[in-house]
Amino acid sequence: MEQGQGLQVYKFGGASVKDAAAILNLCRIVRDFGPKGPLVIVVSAMGKTTNALEEIYELAYAGQAYTEKLRTLDQFHCGVADAVASEPDDKFGVPGLGYGGVTLGTLLEELPERLGGVMPGDYDQQYDQIVGYGELLSSLIMAKALGAQWLDCRSLICTDGNWREARVDWAATERNIDAALPPLLARGLVVTQGFLGGTADGRTTTLGREGSDYTAAILAYCLRAESVTIWKDVAGLLNADPKIFPDTVCYPEISYRETIEMAYYGASVIHPKTLKPLADRNIPLRVKSFLDPEAAGTLIHECQHPALAPAFIRKTDQALLSFASKDFSFISEENMAVIFAALAQAKLKINVMQNSAISFSVCVDFSERRVHQLLDLLREQFTLHYNTGLTLFTIKNYDAASIARLTAGKRLLLEQRTRHTFQFVCQG
Ligand code: ASP
Ligand code: MG
Repeated sequence: MEQGQGLQVYKFGGASVKDAAAILNLCRIVRDFGPKGPLVIVVSAMGKTTNALEEIYELAYAGQAYTEKLRTLDQFHCGVADAVASEPDDKFGVPGLGYGGVTLGTLLEELPERLGGVMPGDYDQQYDQIVGYGELLSSLIMAKALGAQWLDCRSLICTDGNWREARVDWAATERNIDAALPPLLARGLVVTQGFLGGTADGRTTTLGREGSDYTAAILAYCLRAESVTIWKDVAGLLNADPKIFPDTVCYPEISYRETIEMAYYGASVIHPKTLKPLADRNIPLRVKSFLDPEAAGTLIHECQHPALAPAFIRKTDQALLSFASKDFSFISEENMAVIFAALAQAKLKINVMQNSAISFSVCVDFSERRVHQLLDLLREQFTLHYNTGLTLFTIKNYDAASIARLTAGKRLLLEQRTRHTFQFVCQG
């Protein structure tokens, strides 16, 4: 599709589709504030559904009972589907009137079948086959509520088999999207899933937790969209999470570069991978509030702006791992290479790192499974220490006052300062 035809992409996150009232509010937003031109809507799983599916999968994998939790999830989705159906006979996602044979009923039959087939073995691969149901269900319900076309994006967004963090095959994806979407868009509104992709052999992949933003960017990139709007429960891109800091400010306008860094350090507002495809094709990103759709929100695009207010970013559930060479040899390029290779193999991403003469420390998102895998890989060569339950704070564009404010009364386990960024890891 050529740029300038006014295609827009909206992304609705989990909080914006958390129940029937929330979904009906989005229908109103699309009707009253939606663009005149073509629109693709990307939705996340409803509310905390992805967490619930993770728990259910974890139980299935451990061979423990999960049926009660699964029933709660089923009933919840059926209840919402009934409450938002645009036509009386749309109840339950309309058996017979489904999309290519996919209905709420078929999805809710498939899920327990797949759970029943979970076996000890490739944890991450099986995770993707289960956890992706959150988006399949929510997108179907949303499409029904809007009377829109439902699109299964798994056959269009081609990825490798890097389960739970799949990498996009851009050339194939662009080819697919370019062929499939324009005819659908000519007929009207399209609703699809965030977070999901598919391998060449037809298996579901996920793009990383909170990856629905990234899906919106992938579609926008491939379709050369005019803009992307992410609808949130906050006013726009804020300098801190208002649940943690009472006095936040909303940036009216901010560059891609600043936003990428904030997202990278863990600001929960946008998935860090979202910005690059948009910046590559110069597609502006708006962050707007679904609670106050008339407010301007934040415009993220290529721009110059005066110095920004300091941004405070908190990442919880961190682990600080320290590796000391056993033979008192210095931490050299050689043994750093060993540590990095092991981190990559265990799929642990470094949030901060620091080294001294004989020890090297990294702060990572804690995952018991992955940390143990890492320890097994490195135990022979290094003495390892680690602490869990930590928090990583980042202050972007810091000043003395903002550092004093955030560090007051905390015991810092690691601290680092560069020209624009101050980071520390502390207990709790
Ligand atoms: N539902 C997925 C998650 O909770 C993806 C997303 O919300 O963006 O991580
Ligand atoms: Mg989300």
